[in-house]
Amino acid sequence: MIARLAVVGAGAAGAAATYALRDAPVDVTVFEKSRGVCGRAATRRKDDCTYEYGANYLKDADDRVTELVTETLPSDGLVDVEAPIYTFERTGGIDEGREADERKWTYEAGITQLAKRLFAETDATVHNGVRVETLDRADDGWRIVDDEETDRGEFDAVLLTPPAPQTADLLGQARWDHDDCRDFRQAIASVPYRTVVTGVFHYPFELDVPWYGAVNTDKDHDVGWVAREECKDGHVPDGESLLVVQMNEPWSVANYDERPDQMLSAIAERTAHLLDDDRLTDPDWTDYQHWRYAQPEATVDHEALRGATDHDLYFAGDWVADEPRLHAAVRNGLETGEAIAEDTA
Ligand SMILES: Cc1cc2nc3c(=O)[nH]c(=O)nc-3n(C[C@H](O)[C@H](O)[C@H](O)COP(=O)(O)OP(=O)(O)OC[C@H]3O[C@@H](n4cnc5c(N)ncnc54)[C@H](O)[C@@H]3O)c2cc1C
Repeated sequence: MIARLAVVGAGAAGAAATYALRDAPVDVTVFEKSRGVCGRAATRRKDDCTYEYGANYLKDADDRVTELVTETLPSDGLVDVEAPIYTFERTGGIDEGREADERKWTYEAGITQLAKRLFAETDATVHNGVRVETLDRADDGWRIVDDEETDRGEFDAVLLTPPAPQTADLLGQARWDHDDCRDFRQAIASVPYRTVVTGVFHYPFELDVPWYGAVNTDKDHDVGWVAREECKDGHVPDGESLLVVQMNEPWSVANYDERPDQMLSAIAERTAHLLDDDRLTDPDWTDYQHWRYAQPEATVDHEALRGATDHDLYFAGDWVADEPRLHAAVRNGLETGEAIAEDTA
């Protein structure tokens, strides 16, 4: 029986799992290494602008998640990004693109509202700024120790939600002498990931284009994706533009250790060329983020994780889900939380 559960990671999956446990007789404690919640669905603010530099939006690809966001959770400030997504290829030229009827959600206050609203429905304790480092197998559960060697207590079960390579590291460092530990770690460590460098560029003028985002469809352009945050209500003051540019995998890997100013000016140059607008080489402010583990390129071998619950271990996240997407991470978190709820009975 699970009376005390530790959740490692307050991303979408960890938040959704915690939400699914809100009425279960279990005391949930969440440990999150960063200062905020929602993980790779990340929001920053600067100069009256709000912008998403990880996941750009939540897609309406899962009816259950759609209902959760639009009907069950508070929906004040929910933004439906209506402008379309266009496409481009290596040769450039941005053309009318794909899935015109797809709905794309975020919040005026930023996409991190998703995890904030999920946690707000629960009594869980969320500890920010706590990086879990060691999982110590106890007689009947797990002891959690953080990276400052502080003992964070003993739990009947642990739910691990960090990206697969970081979850594999946690198992690698676990004080747990069991063949299954090695087998789980190997299966999880073999999930391949895409690396992405994101550049953010602010301009004190508007862009006259009809699209919200443009995606590279032949995967042969250095730029993988460009999005205009001003298309999201409440994100950018009128008369300004804020571009979020995600570079493709080869470019991101090749330039990962480049000096940020040089990296940003190379991204701005490519963006200006793609949009055929020289003004874009001269932003008035910039920001960036390196995502070493941006998105899994395959799902974990579920068969290899069979039996984890016998060791009071659960896993959730986009690498456990069918798709490396935010809605899929939420769905997977909900389902994992429900499975844990059954084990609390
Ligand atoms: C650049 C980029 C663009 C994307 N674009 C889209 C998009 O447009 N649409 C879409 O649907 N999806 C997109 N995604 C994917 C989407 O962001 C993810 O699928 C989703 O956010 C994964 O959620 P998660 O909870 O599984 O993992 P995460 O969000 O990674 O959450 C895991 C959490 O665990 C924490 N953590 C890790 N290690 C530890 C530790 N040792 N101790 C404590 N805490 C720890 C992390 O800080 C993090 O908060 C994008 C991702 C990136 C990076």
